[in-house]
Parts: sequence; C-alpha cells; structure tokens
Amino acid sequence: MRKKQHQKWLAAAGLALLSILLLGISADAYAASVSGKQAGQFAPDKEKKKRRAASMSWVKLHQQFPSTFLLNGPRHSKRIALTFDDAPDPKYTPMILDILAQHDVCATFFIVGNRASHYPAIVKRIHNEGHIIGNHSYDHAVLSTLTLTNYQKQIWRTDAIITNLIGYSPHFIRPPYGELLPQQVKWSKQAGFSIVNWDVDSVDWKDNPSSALILKNIKKTLQPGSIILQHAGGGVGQNLYGTVNALPNLIRLLHGKGYELVTLPELLGQPAAR
Ligand SMILES: [Zn+2]
Repeated sequence: MRKKQHQKWLAAAGLALLSILLLGISADAYAASVSGKQAGQFAPDKEKKKRRAASMSWVKLHQQFPSTFLLNGPRHSKRIALTFDDAPDPKYTPMILDILAQHDVCATFFIVGNRASHYPAIVKRIHNEGHIIGNHSYDHAVLSTLTLTNYQKQIWRTDAIITNLIGYSPHFIRPPYGELLPQQVKWSKQAGFSIVNWDVDSVDWKDNPSSALILKNIKKTLQPGSIILQHAGGGVGQNLYGTVNALPNLIRLLHGKGYELVTLPELLGQPAAR
C-alpha cells in the first residue's frame, strides 16, 4: 500500500515537473516571438484564445473599477470611437491619417513607446491633426505577465517619450492584447490613468483579412457607445491594407447609420491628459 502511494506520488511529481518545464518553454517561445524589437517590430496580435479568456475577466475588472477599466461608452447616444493600436508605423499610420483627414474624423491612437522613439514625426503628426494619443506599453509586452514594477516601467518609459513629443501625459492606457491584472489596474487608477479596451474587434490583426471581412467583423457587435479596435501599425509579416481599404467604407457606413465618430475623451467624458 505504502509502495503504491509512493509510486503515485512519484508519478504526480513527475507530471508536475513536466508541465512546469513545458510551460516554461512555451512562455519563453512566446516571449521570444514578441521580442523582435528592431525598429519597434513585434509579432502581430494573434492570441485569439487568450483574448477570449481575457474577455471573461474584463467584465469583472469593469465591475471592480467602473470608471477606470472601460470597454465602451454610454449606450444611450449614437456615438462611436475609432481606436488604432500599435502606432506609429511608417507605412500604415500615414495612410490612415490621410483617410481620417479626408473625412474630417478624429480618432484615438495607442502608441508603442519604442516605435515612437523611431518615428517621432508620425506621433507629432497624429497629435497635430487633432487625434488623441494613448499609451500602449513600451515594447508591446504581455503586461499581465510582468511584475507591478516592470509594468510601471513600461508605462512610465512610454509616457516620457510621448509627453516629450506632444506635451501631455496621456490619460488612457490600452494594454497589448487587452490584458492586465487587477493590481495593475488598481495602480493605474492611483497614478491617474484609465484603461480602455474595446467592445468591437475588427480582427484586423489576424491573417491579413480583406476589407470586406473587417467590415463584417465590426458590424457583429457594433452599437451606440462602441469602441472599435483597429490597428495603425503592423507586426512582423502583417499587412494592414484591409484596414486601410475598409476605413473610407466604415466611415460612410457609420455616418449612414447616424453615428457620430468621436475620440475617447469625448465618448467617455474623461480628459485626454492625466
Ligand atoms: Zn497592440
């Protein structure tokens, strides 16, 4: 009997050790995949399952931090915010800015710190053309895997770069992949930030979709107060022509449905700066 229990224990310990090893390896492989940092490059947002899992906890985080962790604006008025992550990008961000200017629409851009260092003129252009700027971490890390101290470093380092370029410290943070731990949200609130994710995912980050598919994805969950996730910068092997080509049609579609396109400060009634 004792021997049997001992064997069972050994088997369990072996399994535990194996899973720790496997987890360690896959976490490392993932970290390596997002750490190609030349010219601010990183792997495209592709963790669909992770997003699903995260979205379960987003509702809880919003309940816990109702004015700090947000997924949408008020549902009672027909206003919608376009948001573009992973800017600045020398190829796609100027194309998106041109289209927004042609249609006289202002949006919100979430900036990756190390990309801003490489392309400061594009960050200034975003700001000068009336768009709002938010913080999207320094190197597109999965922030929920970081210690609080390292999370703070990601935010402050990016904050310093952006503030130096546009003259204000952005109030809004969007964590890469939308993932953040409750203690990170709590600290963000104390430091004067708001976390803004989205309730409409264009899924433009997955498999270089066509503009038709992007419009279809957006229509699925669109409603008054929605915050739409799109990208103004590409990861490794990603192209955003779908996003660029869909944008004029998206603006026409939204205007046709009677929606007003606004920035996050306008939609949420919160300031752009801390
Ligand atoms: Zn991103």
